[in-house]
Amino acid sequence: MAKFDLKSLKAEEFINHEEILETLEYAESNKHNRELIDAILEKAKPKKDEAGTHSVGLTHREASVLLACDIPELNEKMYELARQIKQDFYGNRIVMFAPLYLSNYCVNGCTYCPYHYQNKHICRKKLTQEEVEKEVIALQDMGHKRLAIEAGEDPVNNPIEYILECIDTIYKVKHKNGAIR
Ligand code: SF4
Repeated sequence: MAKFDLKSLKAEEFINHEEILETLEYAESNKHNRELIDAILEKAKPKKDEAGTHSVGLTHREASVLLACDIPELNEKMYELARQIKQDFYGNRIVMFAPLYLSNYCVNGCTYCPYHYQNKHICRKKLTQEEVEKEVIALQDMGHKRLAIEAGEDPVNNPIEYILECIDTIYKVKHKNGAIR
């Protein structure tokens, strides 16, 4: 089995089964550790200096402890801090993302999803780069500035290279409302 390496770009190294199990165990054994939870919340607080507001972020193990915590007053503290972080970074803005479906080919079988591979009743479609460009222009004409791209998981029809090519095409579109951010 591949060794856990958080900074690796290889999925099998940064998504590691043993590390997931150990993290869950760590969360379970620390979910009532008030001292640790307070220290994690302190770390999560945004810091303000002349460069602006920034946050160091939490590790996955720290986040797992917060997720497992079931002490009401600590959870309240967590919600309050989350509200404060949201306010500091985004204020009262609501950021909208328009979904752009690139491809409905998929090899998976999620039962709630019509794109699952056993569904033989839908037409499978993968956008060409020209079609991606037209969709982006249409969405920009509607006033959208941010997109959430969607695609099924299919290493043959939608390999990561296809997704990267689409992202490249999307960013290259310069249209009257500006460009996708
Ligand atoms: S498109 Fe996504 S949600 Fe739908 S079957 Fe594939 S992996 Fe599951």
